[in-house]
Amino acid sequence: MNNYDVIVVGAGPAGLLASGRAAENGCKVLLLEKMRQEGRKLLITGKGRCNITNDADLSSFITHVYPNGRFLRSAFSHFFSKDIIDLLSRYGVESTLERGGRYFPASNQSSDVLKALLRWVNEQKVEIRCGNRVERLIVENDAIKGVQTNGLQLFASQVVLATGGKSYPATGSNGEGYELARAVGHTIINAIPALVPLETAGDLAQRLQGLNLKNVKATVWVNNKKAGEDFGEMIFTHFGLSGPIILTLSRIVVDALQKNLKVEISIDLKPALDDQKLDSRLIRDLNEHGKKKVVNIFQFWLPSSMVPVFIDQLGIDPEKACNQVSATERKQILNLLKNSRFTITKHRSFKEAIITAGGVSTLEISPKTMESKLIKGLYFAGEMIDLDAETGGYNLQIAYSTGWLAGNSCNKLMQQTSNP
Ligand SMILES: Cc1cc2nc3c(=O)[nH]c(=O)nc-3n(C[C@H](O)[C@H](O)[C@H](O)COP(=O)(O)OP(=O)(O)OC[C@H]3O[C@@H](n4cnc5c(N)ncnc54)[C@H](O)[C@@H]3O)c2cc1C
Repeated sequence: MNNYDVIVVGAGPAGLLASGRAAENGCKVLLLEKMRQEGRKLLITGKGRCNITNDADLSSFITHVYPNGRFLRSAFSHFFSKDIIDLLSRYGVESTLERGGRYFPASNQSSDVLKALLRWVNEQKVEIRCGNRVERLIVENDAIKGVQTNGLQLFASQVVLATGGKSYPATGSNGEGYELARAVGHTIINAIPALVPLETAGDLAQRLQGLNLKNVKATVWVNNKKAGEDFGEMIFTHFGLSGPIILTLSRIVVDALQKNLKVEISIDLKPALDDQKLDSRLIRDLNEHGKKKVVNIFQFWLPSSMVPVFIDQLGIDPEKACNQVSATERKQILNLLKNSRFTITKHRSFKEAIITAGGVSTLEISPKTMESKLIKGLYFAGEMIDLDAETGGYNLQIAYSTGWLAGNSCNKLMQQTSNP
């Protein structure tokens, strides 16, 4: 039998929630996934720990979503962070709350989250077919009729597209869902990598590769004007800069790079001290250890792996006694501690981007149901919509909430057609 009430395309978190909810409401649901296994991307979230969601309240939550978090008000009011935590708990996954309002499974295993969602979906009797790539949406008279997968036509009056974005294409999300939507008339807002590491000019970052810094401040400068800043953790890599605060700032950087503007990032290693206080501290340390070699005193100010690189950068003689350091050299030290500048040459590709910005235009989707305003019975959910958020569990919540609402709306549509 190739007839269903609902066909859901893509078994990521959005597709799982859409199919589970539609089936919970009594629909006969088919979930199609092109990979051999469901939820490949979910498995790698949060470095394998899965940052499930965030405990921010709704008003604050939507400020972390771009370009228009308000679009999600309705979806979030139907199914929010507490609801996913409860659903997972019912299927044996307890969550723990960490710094920044981030929820993780107590087991620290993203696979437990996937298993729980699959148990729920299976219990609702959703039929899942992996290895089924949807090639085409079947549309007649501006209404959805079904999909074509592996050359076979399958029919349903409601189809949920939950095919993800373009990032980490090896997980299956390679942007082909955008083409399915475009082919039936939807507008796709330019998809670009977001939450993406950045490449730097010169070799300073490379020489510091592997060094993880906590409690630092990074500031983005576009054409020498301050364009944004963030405080927290970052890491130097073989190509440049990465880590949470760099990923968050990458949204501004990618935008500026696309406009061919000059972009720099400065790192403040001592954000708790202003220039004056830090200078007093440098003077105090240099005086207290007047006869010691300057290389030894650097250990007080920097992680040890940074010391030789910084000394090199400054061109200071490491054997020099502290009381021989000139005022100019002290100013240079201060500048390096407060304002190490990196010119950004480019961003890394979709292969390394946590999320895709852009996607199906929200102007063509009803925020109350997730239904297309162009094609009756077609719904969108998850990352394929033109919405993306900062790190912190926000992106997965967008996927669950829009998926749940799309699945929930399918049922309502059926009831309306059978009981006019
Ligand atoms: C490394 C990494 C870490 C992350 N960590 C976190 C985190 O800790 N917390 C957080 O909130 N977010 C995190 N994210 C983001 C989060 O994973 C995504 O926002 C989320 O997976 C989007 O869910 P989705 O269901 O919309 O899409 P996806 O998870 O991408 O699922 C889409 C599915 O559709 C399938 N598909 C595509 N095309 C077709 C087709 N034509 N036919 C059939 N199937 C198709 C794909 O194979 C895929 O399985 C992370 C992302 C990455 C890359």
